[in-house]
Amino acid sequence: MATIDLHTHSHCSDGELSPEALVQRAAERGLRVLALTDHDSVAGCARAAQAAAAHGLELLAGVELSTQWQGVNAHIIALGLDVHAPLLQQLLERQSQVRERRAVAIGERLAALGLPGVYEAALARSASPQSVGRLHFAQVLQERGVVRSVQQAFDRYLGAGRKAAVPLDWVTMEEGVAILNRVAKVSVLAHPLRYGLSRTRLTQLVAAFAQAGGRALEVATPVQLPGEWPWLQAQATKHALFCSQGSDFHGPTTPWAELGGFTELPDTGSSVWRLLSDDRAA
Ligand code: AMP
Ligand code: MN
Ligand code: MN
Ligand code: MN
Repeated sequence: MATIDLHTHSHCSDGELSPEALVQRAAERGLRVLALTDHDSVAGCARAAQAAAAHGLELLAGVELSTQWQGVNAHIIALGLDVHAPLLQQLLERQSQVRERRAVAIGERLAALGLPGVYEAALARSASPQSVGRLHFAQVLQERGVVRSVQQAFDRYLGAGRKAAVPLDWVTMEEGVAILNRVAKVSVLAHPLRYGLSRTRLTQLVAAFAQAGGRALEVATPVQLPGEWPWLQAQATKHALFCSQGSDFHGPTTPWAELGGFTELPDTGSSVWRLLSDDRAA
């Protein structure tokens, strides 16, 4: 069990819990530090911060930015955000428009495949038209019995290059990192081992991320087990990147990614929370 979880989602993106319920669950599970990192949104940060204060939990405002790098949908987490920075607001406004357009387009593709009304059902599960995600579509397809699992929905319809996939229109990784570095303390390349890349390509992605000004790699997660850390830590060392950790918690129905449900990184000079210490003193 980890006590510092720097990657989580609320209902403000594709998570199941409200920001308040997320914070309460984190407190119940004994977390000391929690970052809320919704996809392309900081809408839940103020509410989470308020709830965290009541629980004596340290809350870091964050975001998980959808970006593109050479056709890869790279997710960049920013921690210690100034959520009111106009530069951030502009970026997230742009991303919201991309997300809304993409959701409509996915719905159209599914309808053309003989699956009408999935967009409307996905929208009904979302906090707003700007926060509809592929997970919402996957959940609807599963609920309707079109697929057996969320994974199958991604494999058949929603994953890159699949039947209802829509080409990437996100901000480039380089531009995204440049902006996040101006409005946050740290930018982190999320779940490096989940992009399905060969080690050669992944090495190139990490190098490009570092070149763009990225500061940390997500090393410890429920699916990146300690046996996989040395390769990631070597990549981090090579590019002078810090190491981060987080569950990518989306809700109680996915217990394999529970809050704090992973082996914590040792507290060393390369731990990303060293860069966040100002917040912790405040
Ligand atoms: P989006 O932000 O709409 O592009 O959707 C990305 C989200 O979909 C991720 O954060 C996960 O929550 C979910 N996701 C992506 N790939 C998979 C997968 N293979 N299985 C389950 N969930 C996935
Ligand atoms: Mn998600
Ligand atoms: Mn992600
Ligand atoms: Mn995530």
